[in-house]
Amino acid sequence: MQNDESKPDESQPQAQPPAPKPDFEAAKTDVQRKTLDQRGQMDELMRLRHSCAHILATAVLRLWPDALLDIGPPTEEGFYYDFDLKHRFSPDDFPKIEEEMRKVTKENQVFEKSIKTREEALAYFAAKGQKFKVERLGDIPEGEAISFYQNGEFVDLCAGPHVMRTGNVKPGGIKMLKVASAYFRGNEKNPQLQRLYGTAFKNKEELDKWVTMQEEAKKRDHRKIGAEMGLFAFDAEYVGPGLALWLPKGTVLVEELEKLAKETEFQAGYVRVKTPHLAKEKMYKTSGHLPYYADSMFPPMEMDECREQRAKIEARIAETESSLLEYAKSLAGRNSGPKPDAGNI
Ligand SMILES: [Zn+2]
Repeated sequence: MQNDESKPDESQPQAQPPAPKPDFEAAKTDVQRKTLDQRGQMDELMRLRHSCAHILATAVLRLWPDALLDIGPPTEEGFYYDFDLKHRFSPDDFPKIEEEMRKVTKENQVFEKSIKTREEALAYFAAKGQKFKVERLGDIPEGEAISFYQNGEFVDLCAGPHVMRTGNVKPGGIKMLKVASAYFRGNEKNPQLQRLYGTAFKNKEELDKWVTMQEEAKKRDHRKIGAEMGLFAFDAEYVGPGLALWLPKGTVLVEELEKLAKETEFQAGYVRVKTPHLAKEKMYKTSGHLPYYADSMFPPMEMDECREQRAKIEARIAETESSLLEYAKSLAGRNSGPKPDAGNI
């Protein structure tokens, strides 16, 4: 439960503060697959960044050929790709990953599209042991074409869009940013994958500008400055991430602001109401918070009976997934003749 003092205006439904997820906490949010319409709207920078996710996967497979792949979407800050790999990535790996990515851009490989049937696609990934890709195939709605993109030796399940060639990505515009954990499909019961984050800009000048901005923003981060000034403290272990514990100096500020807010509202003829801190999902839908801020809001409280029901549903999903994998393997067995020529994939 949050402290009243931290909520100067209780009459507004509240989105939780957008607390950054610490790197050690594995991402628990699943990424919704983009619709074809959404893909059509991806701008030039998004296409460039998504292409970079393919370039990253190409580089990682060259350096660690036994890596298993999940997905690699663009993000607001750049892009990422999720890998399952024995080797634990660390920032020490970034220089050689970046170097390999730059090589891929210099090879100027074309992003070539091809279409496969669902059975062919299943057999292709099952034969390579790429179990996460096998499962991701299930996300593609019936009737939607199953497209593959190949650049150089690397083939990925993807609906695009990309830049035309890896050479459209400037070697100086790429930067690896961080590594974090992420559960497959954001579910903590699934295997924990390693998520490599990077960013890409049109050229080195734009990347350098962004890096400088990030450094400047870090210096001005209110969470850092407020803690240094002794206004508040955070304790993720005992209270939760993003929840401020107001110290005496900070509490004075909060109360002064509340006083000012009350006086201003009173002068303008407003009357105050109080609402509970907790509400049902419907309210956050009505307020418009849920569709936009679900990632940074606290998850709903779950009653015991819901938990049981969910466990049953999850068990059924797991069963279905394993029979799908078995089916894929049997298809792979049937097609275990000579491997298809990479150029025809
Ligand atoms: Zn792609």
